[in-house]
Amino acid sequence: MTSATAAHGRTRPPDTSVAVHQTPATRVLIGGGACGLAHEEAARLGARRVLLVAAPSAAVAADRVADALGPRLAARFDRPAPHTPVTVTAEAMEVVGSTSADCVVAIGGGSAIGLAKALSARTGMPQVAVPTTYAGSEATPVLGETEDGVKTTRRDPALAPGTVVYDPGLTLTMPPGLTRTSAVNALAHAVEALWAPDATRFTDALATEAADGILGALPEVLDDPSGPEPRGRLQSAAWLAGTCLAQTRMGLHHQLAHVLGGAFDLPHAELHTVLLAHVMAFNLPAAPEAAARLARAADGDPVAAVSGLARGYDGPTALSDLGVPRSGLRDIAERVAAKPYPNPREPTVDGVADLLDRMY
Ligand code: NAD
Repeated sequence: MTSATAAHGRTRPPDTSVAVHQTPATRVLIGGGACGLAHEEAARLGARRVLLVAAPSAAVAADRVADALGPRLAARFDRPAPHTPVTVTAEAMEVVGSTSADCVVAIGGGSAIGLAKALSARTGMPQVAVPTTYAGSEATPVLGETEDGVKTTRRDPALAPGTVVYDPGLTLTMPPGLTRTSAVNALAHAVEALWAPDATRFTDALATEAADGILGALPEVLDDPSGPEPRGRLQSAAWLAGTCLAQTRMGLHHQLAHVLGGAFDLPHAELHTVLLAHVMAFNLPAAPEAAARLARAADGDPVAAVSGLARGYDGPTALSDLGVPRSGLRDIAERVAAKPYPNPREPTVDGVADLLDRMY
């Protein structure tokens, strides 16, 4: 263990080495009514023919953007799917081709935004992302795509949307369950950034503020889901959390989400909510600085705070509820331990198997 590891609970270069911090070149609008400016943002990116990708849940907001685009609306595509299946992207590419679209505006959760990234990856089209959940994909240069049940991920600065429009008004329709699981999904980005080996002062500050904002605002939003002010704070905190995800390497939490999600086709935000408190209990003893920051954010035991949020969900709260077979857990542990993401505590096969058993 290096002295830096001992001091920070993470494998960070000693203070004399050079830290590299790269911020994606994304323009961000944030505030009530911001969605009304999405058409202007598309024009700013040079759009003449816009493909509007919208989740069905965002149809009303998409109607308004379509009206504002007027003749610059080339087409609409309203069938984004989780984990960006290449078959769905191929259908949307046909629309791009037949309408000569030169820009994509995506309104919805991570599924709509993932589709916009996939189209941009194939065409170079600029993107305006208008997120309606807290998943954070809009803040990252990462695209995960699924083909024949296998998910592959690529990272390229060109994949990050040129403009992100955060309008808290679009999050008011999130049902309480989605609000809870999507916010815990965002919290996971901040938590993993705090124990990442490539964390910097910048990401520590972002992640701490994100965790503080999510843990503070989420209970208020769950008490009053239609209150715009706490919704705005929660969305801002989720923005910071997504930015952390873009700038640090993921650890055991995201690895388990990827391996379990891929193996058993599990719902993204619900899975994150089942995993997070357990991974925190596993990792935080080996990441004292992250533990201290999270204890301040939670105003107490962060594992208890997150576990309380997870237990309050009226959907699946354990791997067994998600339909994961107990017999498959050992294989997952072996896959994780064979090629671990960087993590403050070594994920041995037995250690991960035990962790999965508790999640089960
Ligand atoms: P999602 O986009 O699939 O949305 C989940 C459900 O909620 C959908 O039915 C959607 O229509 C509905 N919904 C969305 N916003 C709503 C709102 N405001 N009101 C009511 N209903 C609403 O799920 P998600 O959790 O937002 O995103 C998950 C996807 O994003 C996964 O495919 C995941 O892999 C991807 N993701 C990618 C990254 C990245 O960096 N590439 C980061 C995070 C998530």
